[in-house]
Amino acid sequence: MSKKDYYEVLDIRRNASQDDIKRAFKKLAFEHHPDRNPDSDETDDKFKEVNEAYQILSDENKRAQYDSFGHISGDGFQPGANYSNFGDLFGSLFEDVFSGGGTTRAQRGRDLKYDLELMFEEAVFGINKEIEIPKNTLCEECSGKGAQPGGEVTCGSCSGTGSMNYSQGFLTISRTCSNCGGSGSVITKPCKGCKGKGLVYINKKVSVKVPAGVETGSRLRMRDEGESGFYGGPSGDLYIELHVKEHEFFKREGNNLFIEVPISFVQAALGTEIEIPTIEGKANFKFPSGTQPGQSFKLKGKGVTDLRSGRKGDMYVISQVEVPVKLNSKQKEILKEFEKYSKTEDQPLISKFINKFQGYIEKIVVFN
Ligand SMILES: [Zn+2]
Ligand SMILES: [Zn+2]
Repeated sequence: MSKKDYYEVLDIRRNASQDDIKRAFKKLAFEHHPDRNPDSDETDDKFKEVNEAYQILSDENKRAQYDSFGHISGDGFQPGANYSNFGDLFGSLFEDVFSGGGTTRAQRGRDLKYDLELMFEEAVFGINKEIEIPKNTLCEECSGKGAQPGGEVTCGSCSGTGSMNYSQGFLTISRTCSNCGGSGSVITKPCKGCKGKGLVYINKKVSVKVPAGVETGSRLRMRDEGESGFYGGPSGDLYIELHVKEHEFFKREGNNLFIEVPISFVQAALGTEIEIPTIEGKANFKFPSGTQPGQSFKLKGKGVTDLRSGRKGDMYVISQVEVPVKLNSKQKEILKEFEKYSKTEDQPLISKFINKFQGYIEKIVVFN
């Protein structure tokens, strides 16, 4: 059964003074004294609890120990005052006490981040890239020990155990030896390759497999390709953040591609079949007669392969209808002739506008 927090038992704050503690104890001891409640087991337990809490908290040494380590008893540690620090505390205590020292210095290597720029097509189709990562890595000359062969002696402070024992109340706590940092040995002749650090700074070549369908902001994680750990700790990871360059024709939204294709107003009116670019090369595309400016046409499955599902997105062709910026006299003559045969009802936007305009003018007249 887990014990109640001593501060809770006495109903005081964590920074309570000795006077506060004494006052709280007296009040509760009086309330729960077995003499006042002779028939209640519950009161008896409560009285014992209050008594125990007071024994610990009224003694500054025991209180400090309780604040750091919580309840210490035969059945293990229990969280004390500070839950947020408890994980760390327990972690280091646990290692110190049970690992017998020696490995406590192990430190995980740092994670690294690399920004990789990709061509639009590389992101769409995927690619294998070789990149160079500047990083700290284990010195091969000394296998990360930092010493020349035979350049290491057993630590005198801890006799090579890597840990020192301290008595704290009724508990013996084992701490990492500060002389050797827990390694159990001291370097007398540092390795020349790494000057005793055990790590060297290099440019490591790494092959990156970029899957098809990535986009700007996509991140690839390469396990253990970060910096080497210290003192036998594991390596960190390498995170590759992707940045995709813009395409001269295509805009991308998710797995769909968009392309604007300009055609003449004659082509738009009559319809036309022309060659257009696709992400895989080129294709014939047919604009129907009566194509409007900004009209979009969907080409199914001509988009980007989805990174996860493998399903293909679509491609959208958007018409840009261009009016000539200059006409010669012959063209003008033909177009004037053409206009004679044009009917308003075949041009829905124009006829709608004319109708609306008519209504608008009539309303204006009423208001005046
Ligand atoms: Zn030592
Ligand atoms: Zn070395």
